Amino acid sequence: MTRDPAYFDPAAAARADWSGKRVTLMGLGRHGGGAGAARFLAQAGSRITLSERAPLDELDDGLALVRDVPFEAVHAGGHDPRHFQSAYAVVVNPAVGADHPCLVEARRSGCQVTSEIELFLRYAPSQVIGVTGSVGKSTTSAMLSEILRADGRRTWLGGNFGGSLLDDLARMQSDDWIVLELSSFQLAHLSDQARLPRWAVITNCAPHHLEWHGGFEAYAAAKRRLAAVAGPDSFVILNERDREAWSWRERASARVLPPWSLERVGSLPLAGEHNRQNAACAAAAAEALGVKPQAIRAALGQFRGLPHRMESLGWLGGRVWINDSKATTPIATAAALDAFKAPTWLLVGGKDGNVSFAQLATHIRDNVMGIAAFGAARHKIAQAISSECGWLPLTSCKCLQDAVGWCYFHSQPADTILLSPGCPSHDAFADFQARGDAFRQLAFHFSAASHDLEKPRARAVCP
Ligand code: ADP
Repeated sequence: MTRDPAYFDPAAAARADWSGKRVTLMGLGRHGGGAGAARFLAQAGSRITLSERAPLDELDDGLALVRDVPFEAVHAGGHDPRHFQSAYAVVVNPAVGADHPCLVEARRSGCQVTSEIELFLRYAPSQVIGVTGSVGKSTTSAMLSEILRADGRRTWLGGNFGGSLLDDLARMQSDDWIVLELSSFQLAHLSDQARLPRWAVITNCAPHHLEWHGGFEAYAAAKRRLAAVAGPDSFVILNERDREAWSWRERASARVLPPWSLERVGSLPLAGEHNRQNAACAAAAAEALGVKPQAIRAALGQFRGLPHRMESLGWLGGRVWINDSKATTPIATAAALDAFKAPTWLLVGGKDGNVSFAQLATHIRDNVMGIAAFGAARHKIAQAISSECGWLPLTSCKCLQDAVGWCYFHSQPADTILLSPGCPSHDAFADFQARGDAFRQLAFHFSAASHDLEKPRARAVCP
């Protein structure tokens, strides 16, 4: 699709495409993506059926976001194949499996299957930079958008980062910049007709979400979609330190650029070599987009990090508390362990995501004083660690609260207590934010009440 961005009107184009069309919205989702798509299609004049797996009474938060959307029908508590056979299009939530029987049925019936992200890419009137990777997507996206903002450019940050940028289309201008974080689910749902971003950044690629994708090859293929950006001035930043991502350079259609060297990045306010790698990717993209190296370093020097990613909660009860709840894979936990040199008590655990924890043991150095494994994956983690590091104090707790209590009462003043779970949160929490918030509450609870509590466990706020 060629178009002159200066004269492109997303709302008019959307009306031309969607007015009067019957669309099934599959999954409202909890993060606003489904709600953004619903509002966008309603404004474009579509007749929308909401089809939701969860029962209506579990959808309160999601429904509140679409109160003003005039759905033609709402079908909750499961999907009815009829809504997929007769629709003009299905807009699928990224959490839904790409080969869900209803989607197979929809495609067989000739119905287009699209997504909130694909709609956004189709109607975005501005220049889009897509960012993906197994870890570091949010941090790299936020760094890049901060650099572009500091350079005086109007910049939007969204996609997997949260919310829906479809809501902002009307306010976007042709010379704005959009940093779009893309998850493997969002990439896997892009159809062959999808308009890709003009520029791409791929931080790394290691096994993650394998159950959803059905294996590493399918997962990597989803990430690789972003390496297919093409156009006269397109580029893709591929991390040459990551063997898998770097191997895609031969197949990339756009110019391939490596990240900056870590020395060139200079000093950062964030701990960890992994954050320097993220900064190196963001810096290479910003420089290729015309930002001066000095301005890039200045902006990175101001970047204080994102909540729930190695976030310091400060000194409480004489300990330093670090909330790294967003570490949902062992790779991220390994990066956190590499970053801290002080005596550290590690909390690791959560949903068993079918990944191996064997590598984690190789990142456990002398400064790790003890490990509390918790949640559904606790036995698997405890086994992986005890077989390699039998000397290490280790406990296995049913819930986060008991794990925090154990770490608190075994630690000494000035030690660090680090939540870097290496697992998804969904065994016990709605999401990583809820888990990080519970950890913060527990830190306050134990440090404030430590004199009154019995060792080593106490009652507090476990869900
Ligand atoms: P994503 O959006 O890909 O999940 P985030 O930037 O939100 O990535 O970081 C998630 C977790 O991964 C945090 O614990 C963070 O410290 C860790 N992390 C970030 N970047 C990297 C990296 N390049 N390598 C390893 N771990 C990383």
